[in-house]
Amino acid sequence: MSNTPEHVKCLIIGSGPAGYSAAIYAARADLKPVLYEGPLPGGQLTQTTEVDNYPGYPNGRTGPEMMEDLKKQAERFETDVRHGWVTKVDLTGPVHKAWVDEKTEIHADTIIISTGASAKWLGLPNETRLRDIGGGVTACAVCDGFFYKGQTVALIGAGDSACEEATYLSKLCPKVYMLVRRGEFRASKAMVHRVENTSNIEVLYNTEVEDVLGSDRVEGISIVNNKTGAKGKLDVTGLFLAIGHTPATELFKGWLDMDETGYLKHDPDRTSTKIPGVFVAGDAADRFYRQAVTSAGSGCMAALDAERYLAAQGKH
Ligand code: NDP
Repeated sequence: MSNTPEHVKCLIIGSGPAGYSAAIYAARADLKPVLYEGPLPGGQLTQTTEVDNYPGYPNGRTGPEMMEDLKKQAERFETDVRHGWVTKVDLTGPVHKAWVDEKTEIHADTIIISTGASAKWLGLPNETRLRDIGGGVTACAVCDGFFYKGQTVALIGAGDSACEEATYLSKLCPKVYMLVRRGEFRASKAMVHRVENTSNIEVLYNTEVEDVLGSDRVEGISIVNNKTGAKGKLDVTGLFLAIGHTPATELFKGWLDMDETGYLKHDPDRTSTKIPGVFVAGDAADRFYRQAVTSAGSGCMAALDAERYLAAQGKH
């Protein structure tokens, strides 16, 4: 058996909408992409239930089904989809190196990083349980808000995302409780102003969730004022978390530029990073939109950028 590492034209790291969309485009351009699925094959969408806002699915689709569809489409054009987790990279170039599961070395002319991000959760047992059964705990108001139309909901967080999502929910729901753990917001003044001027958002400062109530669906939350110790219950049918996201970019520390939270930086209007041949798509570089469709779009862009890069190098 040869010890020479496998050499590929295009290595895609991550299997969310960004990774699979990149794979579809790269495969159709004959880059023969190899895609490693990572620790959560299918990405964040495998942890959601209905996806009703992805174009092309008039009747909606569950997140896991949608990711299966995307995978099949990528494989139809002979993307080599593999189990495995890229655990180390060496981007010295011109050929980039990656190690899968700490042992298998693979060399690539181009790498498309689509490792995604994960929402932060409180970590309460009933929060996790109800989230996992699609019982009314979610971290995406734009994705799931519609299901709570006409209902009373609570949202946790005090950053710009929380303000944006509370405002979004206030257009669908008659009442939105916004739980802020400190006595003030972290969000920009303009965002806070919008929240304060929305009559059906009630901000509860110094308030934290102690438990999420309900067996199959959220039937309420128990709360506590962390200043006074006063406890209470809110009758809500949905709990939205907007307490931040963590991009899965640890692997690229020291190689690529990232912001203070770890989101990867890329060139303006392009998916290229500061290292030639390394591109980024999806939530790993997107702190603002974080939608399946925007991830898919940037996956397409990364594949086109990779193809052009290879052509300019005379390698394709
Ligand atoms: P942030 O990290 O800015 O805010 C997270 C919020 O969640 C904070 O208010 C924090 O509270 C709160 N929080 C964290 N953990 C808990 C917990 N366990 N319990 C209760 N509350 C908790 O994340 P965002 O997603 O809001 O924003 C990320 C970045 O994206 C920011 O830089 C933001 O400015 C930017 N952004 C900009 C937008 C725009 O300009 N339109 C829209 C959306 C995001 P605390 O304040 O007490 O730490």
